[in-house]
Amino acid sequence: MPVPKLRLHRYAWPVVFGLFSGIATAGPFELEPLPYDSSALEPYIDQQTMEIHHGRHHRAYVANLNAQVENYPELRDMSLEEIMPMISRFNMAVRDNAGGHYNHKLFWDVMAPAGHGGEPSAELLAAIERDFGSLQAMQALVNRAAATRFGSGWAWLIVTAEGKLAVTSTPNQDNPLMDIVPDQGVPILGIDVWEHAYYLAYQNRRGAYLDFWWNVVNWDSVSRRYAEAMNP
Ligand code: MN
Repeated sequence: MPVPKLRLHRYAWPVVFGLFSGIATAGPFELEPLPYDSSALEPYIDQQTMEIHHGRHHRAYVANLNAQVENYPELRDMSLEEIMPMISRFNMAVRDNAGGHYNHKLFWDVMAPAGHGGEPSAELLAAIERDFGSLQAMQALVNRAAATRFGSGWAWLIVTAEGKLAVTSTPNQDNPLMDIVPDQGVPILGIDVWEHAYYLAYQNRRGAYLDFWWNVVNWDSVSRRYAEAMNP
């Protein structure tokens, strides 16, 4: 009996191409598009960095997290916000990739094209002045936490359990919602200081990236996150 020749219907090719080009992140967790064009943060963050960062790095975290659903079927019905406070129950792959997915979703959301990020709300500004003295003092503390994070990681502005603002940093893809980090709280602003976030344009000059980053901060998003953290 002759073996039938395998022929793919022409409409199947985009699916096959998608699988091999990394487009597929099949599973319950999804990579959402950037909320702005990949060139929208220029000149402070260049288009190629944004495309690689979102389209390859963030995509890989989502795909790798989806791959862990086989090991932990309960992940299928959990939000990222539900996973973080019990991250110690899971393996390192879930910690790295659920953390990576959560952190990058937040990161895209707390940035906006320069001139379109609004201003801190009156409530947020009052809390910043109460806890740090001034907006500039808070920014200097965040930049210091980011600059002194050895290797790869994140700097955060968080709301603590007591309702205060604090600046922290975490290694790798950990974040302040995780039950394994020493300084816990609800992150309302985060800066990615992995080299993949800045190396093409800034090379080793992390400090220059941090200084320029504040030109693309989305205060409207940070203010909304502050209000939500204070009234969960
Ligand atoms: Mn990153």
